[in-house]
Amino acid sequence: MDTMKFYILDNGWETLDKSYFIAGANAATASDRNPVNEWIDIPIQAYLITSEYGNILFDTGCDVDWKKNWPEFIPEQSPYFVTEEQYLLNRLGQLGLEAKDIDYVIISHLHVDHAGNLYHFTDSQIFVNENELVQTLKGYATNRDLDVHVPSDIRRFIDAGLNWKTLGDEVAEYELIPGVTILNWGSGHSFGMLGMKVELKNTGNLLVAADALYCRENIEPEIKVPGILYDSLGYKRTAKKIVEYARETESKILFGHDMEQFKALKKSTEGYYD
Ligand SMILES: [Zn+2]
Repeated sequence: MDTMKFYILDNGWETLDKSYFIAGANAATASDRNPVNEWIDIPIQAYLITSEYGNILFDTGCDVDWKKNWPEFIPEQSPYFVTEEQYLLNRLGQLGLEAKDIDYVIISHLHVDHAGNLYHFTDSQIFVNENELVQTLKGYATNRDLDVHVPSDIRRFIDAGLNWKTLGDEVAEYELIPGVTILNWGSGHSFGMLGMKVELKNTGNLLVAADALYCRENIEPEIKVPGILYDSLGYKRTAKKIVEYARETESKILFGHDMEQFKALKKSTEGYYD
């Protein structure tokens, strides 16, 4: 654990209406019947852990060929901006790593901005919530309920023949290596959500919430559901659980897409947390 390093990989950004993040943000009221919507910037990120027990990647960012592959509604709903140096594989390359050097990939869920490069990791063991994988494959086969699960991402990770390790909802926690625990939260934002706790010697504990909590405003001053949501009760249950777990374990919550928090964090080009 002494040699564990935690890197934050900046994979570009999206812009979108705030109501996708906070349901009902800037809702009309009797005295303000036509409020102006808020258009916000959000970071797209992944995390890398290097350690003597292996290298772990948490999430994989967006497809670099998004212009060609995404359904039209996605860049219309949330335009994506990325430079070549921000591509996930280039971010790994800047640290001297290739896809084959990653022992474990933890995929928080299979949405467009998390699973876009998953198909590259054919030598890794891939951790995913079981329902997330099953429902995504069902959606792909039936062409229904895909939401922001993208068919081209799904087709490629099927074709790649990945080495999946699915976590059923009965597995609440899974210690992957000493100091890294996968947290299995079940349905909420999507069909099944994974998070991660990382115990770092100097930094302390980090709790990677991914899209189980988009941003600080989803929990402060109280829990607010986002506009992209599969199971609202599961979402609230998870949000409460994360806040309590972070308090009990003295962990700093890393939100999934919080631009204010992201700007203040050290990115992989600047260094790492240990
Ligand atoms: Zn998502």
